[in-house]
Amino acid sequence: MRSSENSAEMSEQAKQYLNSNPAIPMVCNLHAHTYRCNHATGTEEEYVQNAIQGGLKTFGFSDHTPMPFPADYYSTFRMHPEQQEGYVTTLLALREKYRDRIDLKIGYEVEYYPRYFNRLLRMLHRFPVDYIIQGQHMLYNEYPDAVYCGISTKDPDFLHTFVSQSCEGMQTGAFTYLAHPDLCDFRGSAVVFEEEYGRLIECANQLGIPLEINLLGIRAKRPYPHEAFFRLAGQMGAEVVIGCDAHAAEDACDLTSYRKALQMIDRFHLKYLPKPGLRPVPESV
Ligand SMILES: [Zn+2]
Ligand SMILES: [Zn+2]
Repeated sequence: MRSSENSAEMSEQAKQYLNSNPAIPMVCNLHAHTYRCNHATGTEEEYVQNAIQGGLKTFGFSDHTPMPFPADYYSTFRMHPEQQEGYVTTLLALREKYRDRIDLKIGYEVEYYPRYFNRLLRMLHRFPVDYIIQGQHMLYNEYPDAVYCGISTKDPDFLHTFVSQSCEGMQTGAFTYLAHPDLCDFRGSAVVFEEEYGRLIECANQLGIPLEINLLGIRAKRPYPHEAFFRLAGQMGAEVVIGCDAHAAEDACDLTSYRKALQMIDRFHLKYLPKPGLRPVPESV
């Protein structure tokens, strides 16, 4: 489609935004959820329409993945395995309906749980899948040993475990990028912070995996994206992407937070990838 047609479709806010930031428009968001995770609202079509109005060329849903847990365990913040087919068929229909206006991708946000990972990959491949992003919300395997990562802590061992598991996940080669890499809000020694998060950034650099500046963190004023983390990432030459982490249709293309993320990129001399390449999802690792 011609770009003039596309700009006719963009909202006033998006046009104003483009005028003030002609250099780096937001063209791609690969981080968005659906109601199936039990903590997001809106229809998928509303997300897609907002993405188009915001000026995105590529838009990916990456809802919290189903997991092949034992049947007696109920994981409340993700879709159930039996909802996967509806998720994919809905997105395939929207891809077709809006094919001339936006490139719609089908993905998942996935924790790396070593015990379940290969079974999970088989589960995801039951239906078409374009990419997965790593969002390490829990340590270990969630079941039977769940520990939430996004806490404030001064415990060096906790950060160490978070970084080690994040790196193990990246090393599978399955993930397109690492979402909110700074989810663990470490408030202890600055030396430990640099040592451990430096290890994570080094791992991402070696594997060529971009780190996400998470716009939900900016919108909701969470501890992430963490200044010290991205300062270090800039010093180490890391590549970054920006993810809206939309849990509501109006956040499918969150230009207000995007602008703040761009300022961060500028301030810390980060290498920004406006449209990261998608890594194919392997059948097993
Ligand atoms: Zn979520
Ligand atoms: Zn997310």
